[in-house]
Amino acid sequence: MSNRQEKEKGVNVQVILRCRPFSNEELRNNAPQVVTCNDYQREVAVSQNIAGKHIDRVFTFDKAGCLQVFGPAAQQKDLYDQAIVPIVKEVLEGFNCTIFAYGQTGTGKTYTMEGECKQSKSDGELPAGAGVIPRAIKQIFDTLESQNAEYSVKVTFLELYNEEITDLLAPEEISRVALEDKQKKQLPLMEDGKGGVLVRGLEEEIVTSASEIFTLLERGSAKRRTAETLLNKQSSRSHSLFSITIHIKEATPEGEELIKCGKLNLVDLAGSENISRSGAREGRAREAGEINKSLLTLGRVINALVEHLGHVPYRDSKLTRLLRDSLGGRTKTCIIATVSPAVHCLEETLSTLDYAHRAK
Ligand code: ADP
Ligand code: MG
Repeated sequence: MSNRQEKEKGVNVQVILRCRPFSNEELRNNAPQVVTCNDYQREVAVSQNIAGKHIDRVFTFDKAGCLQVFGPAAQQKDLYDQAIVPIVKEVLEGFNCTIFAYGQTGTGKTYTMEGECKQSKSDGELPAGAGVIPRAIKQIFDTLESQNAEYSVKVTFLELYNEEITDLLAPEEISRVALEDKQKKQLPLMEDGKGGVLVRGLEEEIVTSASEIFTLLERGSAKRRTAETLLNKQSSRSHSLFSITIHIKEATPEGEELIKCGKLNLVDLAGSENISRSGAREGRAREAGEINKSLLTLGRVINALVEHLGHVPYRDSKLTRLLRDSLGGRTKTCIIATVSPAVHCLEETLSTLDYAHRAK
């Protein structure tokens, strides 16, 4: 295969490594730092000395633009402007794209995707803590409003726990009975005949301005928290999927009507410690009902795409079925791998770095 063909066939998987700052508690405890990021060189060094045993590894990521490193000083805006803006542009051009947050629980997946903010400021600007979801919505509306075209923006927000789907935007009152009832008659997945999959009965919310996003995110998180408490869920084991679908009606110079449709999926994955190699843990996870099927399958799907394997096992989990029309082919995929700088996370940090290194 020629280089050019290789490139055209090539999957667009981009990997971002983000290391969060020390938490107040880690600072109070003088937690030793084992991760050092060199954002400019795209390098992450992990080193530790205990009792004469020395761990020293440097992960160098090539300069081809496949990987970017964001150390503890990087702000939400830095990550968004440098890495996400081009992806959202693709979506506005009518392509489907997916952004994942992958990493150990407590390393900043939700912070990166949703961020810390409850509302936009009075001048319509985003607060500094706003994550990828509100920033993407703002970029989408800023672009659409500056164009002279008809458009619609719809969002869905769901949670996947133990291969069961909960609609995080469904308006009904949440109660144990309603939830258990719902779990019995799970929202079914159906092929839509266009290569995608539909969740029957999933609430689709039409968004008309960027500022509405904070209410929706808050509604989704509140529902997630209630479901967690009522059903003893462990949040570290659930995935959340926020999807934005954009339709833009354009007229060609010949006066014909053209509808562009793009979709952006924003996935906050279950904690990666749930698929660690440790046999004991895996055994327990399996007992708990294949809780990590989606995470495991996602890894296999991405691997198959990156390695150009003939068979991509989309059908093996709900998450990958849901994302089928947005992974591979002409779509762009971005994995934001998050790690902690502290020594007590060392093992998981190495495993996340290995994962990120393999996925690029
Ligand atoms: P996860 O979703 O991976 O379990 P969280 O997003 O909940 O982790 O982050 C854990 C804690 O660390 C939260 O209090 C969050 O505000 C904080 N945090 C994570 N990443 C950052 C960051 N880059 N800058 C500042 N605080 C962060
Ligand atoms: Mg989280």
